[in-house]
Amino acid sequence: MAKADTAAAFAANRDRAAPLLKQLNADAIGHLIDGEILPSTSGEVFETTSPIDGSVVAQVARGNADDIDRAARAAQRAFKSWRDMPAASRKKLLHRVADAIEARADDIAVLECIDTGQPHRFMAKAAIRGAENFRFFADKCMEARDGRNMPSDEHWNVSTRVPIGPVGIITPWNTPFMLSTWKIAPALASGCTVVHKPAEWSPVTADLLSRIVKDAGVPDGVLNTVHGFGEDAGKALTEHPAIKAIAFVGETSTGAAIMAQGAPTLKRVHFELGGKNPVIVFDDADLERALDAVVFMIYSLNGERCTSSSRLLIQSSIADTFIEQLTARVRALKVGHPLDPDTEIGPLIHQRHLDKVCSYFEIARQDGATIAVGGAPFAGPGGGHYVQPTLVTGARGEMRVAQEEVFGPFLTVIPFGDEREAIEIANAVQYGLTGYVWTADMGRALRVADALEAGMIWLNSENVRHLPTPFGGMKSSGIGRDGGDYSFDFYMETKHVALARGTHKIQRLGVST
Ligand code: NAD
Repeated sequence: MAKADTAAAFAANRDRAAPLLKQLNADAIGHLIDGEILPSTSGEVFETTSPIDGSVVAQVARGNADDIDRAARAAQRAFKSWRDMPAASRKKLLHRVADAIEARADDIAVLECIDTGQPHRFMAKAAIRGAENFRFFADKCMEARDGRNMPSDEHWNVSTRVPIGPVGIITPWNTPFMLSTWKIAPALASGCTVVHKPAEWSPVTADLLSRIVKDAGVPDGVLNTVHGFGEDAGKALTEHPAIKAIAFVGETSTGAAIMAQGAPTLKRVHFELGGKNPVIVFDDADLERALDAVVFMIYSLNGERCTSSSRLLIQSSIADTFIEQLTARVRALKVGHPLDPDTEIGPLIHQRHLDKVCSYFEIARQDGATIAVGGAPFAGPGGGHYVQPTLVTGARGEMRVAQEEVFGPFLTVIPFGDEREAIEIANAVQYGLTGYVWTADMGRALRVADALEAGMIWLNSENVRHLPTPFGGMKSSGIGRDGGDYSFDFYMETKHVALARGTHKIQRLGVST
């Protein structure tokens, strides 16, 4: 973009945000319960602040167990009529939600940038992806109940699916709007009603989504949103007896806590958790494309991305040249204001998260790795939670910087000798979400894809989502799959119905003479 165009686009983003922020400052964000926007029963609120400059974006209702109870009961009351609504009507309503998201995509994008610090260049697309999630699952409504026919000699055996009931959805702060739609759309398409507990560090666009869904005419109680903290609102949701299942996206340790909290009420759980994903670059790869993908998959979205390739496994024979080129690219990354269209890395979500990311600089040094680029906070516009994009070289697989999820613009480079060693290093972590492999040898690509312990593998590609495909992780990265028909397996019960041909012999009891 030419300099003048960039400045104009930056100004336009600010102008778009100004009246929205004024509105948010005037009215506290409330819960959506049974079709009404309401304060908390306790009257308590908390503040959401912008990572750009610490300014208060909004006061937000702080939900507790009472608010969760009201929302869960509303979801329970709404369930039967939503379940029994003809699929075509449900489809129409969900398309209407998608239309409304598209119509407000620019507002959603700027608010998301201000609430989370994510750069506008990525958030503009995230809002559109939110609409696509609703559109895709709107069309899937028509096949949600589909099953199989498994005829035997005397029966037709058919399976069908029925929605499980009211479900709880708990989401994180990294790309909140996109992730909320990714979980809520399939739940509603299945015929489930929902209580959503958005992340407390990024509640703003969940409020917009609540209003969009309500205004689109989705019946009262079908989507309920309760804001608040994990330890009270989130915990109460996972324990509520009316809630049949919990779809959770967040940290691995929170997933473990939720599993324990949900055990007494036998909650079905679906977990999308942390990752420490490898990108493996072999010496025969298209190195130009591989370099683009390596940089994109860790430094986009502030590195606050579960599928980021935070470990680069580079074949020793090309390591020096590749790292030299990588170093130049990382040095040139543009850290700046999230509403500036040129910005590639914005401020991190929260001071606590900035502190966590920065703590890994010392950890890297103590482990004996080298900080080749970055390694310090960054003085960005507004004085917010900015950090320098960081590249750590000379690491070994067992180091903490090669094992633990940093969740920031922080890449750890580990050299390897051959295919066997690459696989060994890649798998020697507790996580198993994604893996990326770059090689011109298709046989090798397939062997490595088979051997990697991860739920999603991209060969010669960065992460490009295709909504029908299964999304989810192995090991400590998750339980279950989302996407396409896989989502229905979670939100629905599979039921078997046997139809007799009337020919089979029925044992006759009580007729002995
Ligand atoms: P987090 O686990 O701290 O919080 C996520 C949500 O859980 C929030 O809404 C929070 O309020 C709630 N919560 C916290 N404690 C709870 C409890 N005891 N009971 C019920 N709810 C509770 O995660 P985060 O810091 O918001 O997000 C970052 C993490 O999310 C990273 O680990 C990242 O990898 C992961 N993530 C995973 C995926 C994926 O698809 N696998 C996608 C995005 C993010």
